Parts: sequence; structure tokens; C-alpha cells
Amino acid sequence: MTSLKDYTHDSGSRLGGYKDSVTLVDTHCHLSDVRAFPDPRLEIETALSAGVRRMVTIGIDGDSSHDAVRLAERHEEVYATAGWHPNHASDYSAAGLQEIEALLAHPKCVALGEIGLDFYRDHASRDDQERAFRDQLALALDARKPVVIHCREAYSDLLAILEEGAAPPLIFHCFSGDATDLRRALDLGGWIGVDGPITYKSGDPLRQVLYQAPMDKLLVETDAPYMAPEPHRGMTNRPAWVTYVNAGLARVKGLTETETALATTTNALAVFGPLGL
Ligand SMILES: [Zn+2]
Repeated sequence: MTSLKDYTHDSGSRLGGYKDSVTLVDTHCHLSDVRAFPDPRLEIETALSAGVRRMVTIGIDGDSSHDAVRLAERHEEVYATAGWHPNHASDYSAAGLQEIEALLAHPKCVALGEIGLDFYRDHASRDDQERAFRDQLALALDARKPVVIHCREAYSDLLAILEEGAAPPLIFHCFSGDATDLRRALDLGGWIGVDGPITYKSGDPLRQVLYQAPMDKLLVETDAPYMAPEPHRGMTNRPAWVTYVNAGLARVKGLTETETALATTTNALAVFGPLGL
């Protein structure tokens, strides 16, 4: 059994330091992953004691989207998204789209996603990925919901699709494009998700790109249980550790952590709605 105390003592002053003074939102985690998080309430309490007051848990297929919405029903601090990830696009069907449409009507389901293109992995063909992506983009426009974008080694194809016509509000989750991709994403009105890689030793090229992104378009995310930030790289990531992402962003921007927390939380509420705050 791991107690809450065991989790908090190793995280240094940052976890304690944020308490009561700062509100952060982890805008992208997979808290409904029961293998990684058998006790989501413990994760939420740890996050709260770090100043992380809201978490958006992300669906990647029909079942996980249902799980995300159910978790949000049970916990005030959790909001959900529903959608079919490109790596699951070969299982996606018209019935899958209807399932997502039904979940989007839930008051705690604040976005459609994560959806997009992933040419790094070949779990689904490019045709299947593109079909699922286009269907869900159209649904988001109809449902007037923002979209959480997953994009890996596919920015030029993905941006070209988005530039074809009207696009819903876009959140470029874990942005990893270059400066040109950033400009195109911002021209589409997109928000830019910042994750653990901003803290990595090898992250200079990414930091140079993110330095150019305006503060009123940036969001902080963990993608927990994946992509733990330094100094925890390689471990199971947790929503509480969005504090390290925020600290990394503050260093890149030459701002205080309080300033970047305030800005990114304001941005999260602009794109996802009030989240009960
Ligand atoms: Zn994710």
C-alpha cells in the first residue's frame, strides 16, 4: 500500500509551494487508465495538494471514452473528453461515431478527442486514420465542441486537412512541430499543449519553438501515465506533476511559475469552459 505521504515527500517544495496560491489545470491525462491508476481518488488528492485543481481525462476509443465520462461523474475535479485516437482507427466505425456523439452531450464531456494522425506508429492504415479524423472533426463542428488533436510525424498532412475549411476550436496536444507548424496551428486559432518534453535535456529545439508561442495560447498537460517530466522521466507520470511542466514553461518564457500557472489556467477555461472553478 502506498500512502499519500509517500507520494508527496519526494516531490520537493514545488508540490507544497503551490498549495493555496496557484491553480493549475492538467488539460490532458489518462486518469481512467485503471492499470496505471487503480486509485484515482489518491491521484486527485495528490494533485490537489500540488495546486492542480482540475484534470481533463482523455478518451482514445469507445470504451475508454465511456470510462472517462464515468470517472468525471464520480469526481468533481475531473472532466472528460470522448473520441477515437488514430492508433485505434482500424476499430472505428459509424457506430463508434454515434457513441462519441452521445457522450459529447454529457455536461462533463468538454471536448472531442483525442483524434488526429499518427504516422510514427502503424496501428491503423493512413486511410483509416484520415477517415476517422475527418468524421470526428465534422461531428465536433456540429456539436460545437473543441477538439483535442494527437499528431505524431504527420503535421503537414494534418494541418492541410484542418486548413481546408471551417475548423472547430483546436488543442494541439503535446505540440512537437517546428516553427512553421506552430505558425500554421496558431493561424487556425489553435491552442498549444505543453508536456514533459519541455523539461528534457534534449528539448532545446522544442523549447525554441515554444518560446515563440504567445502566452495566451498555451496549455499545460501531463499525458499521464506517459511522458513524465524531469526529474521523474521514465516513471509513471501523474497529474500532480503538471507542476514540473509549468516550471519548465516558466523557464522558457522568463516568467514566474505563478504567472504561467495563471495564464495557462485562464486559457484552459477559455477553451474548455468554466470547469466548475
Ligand atoms: Zn493522450
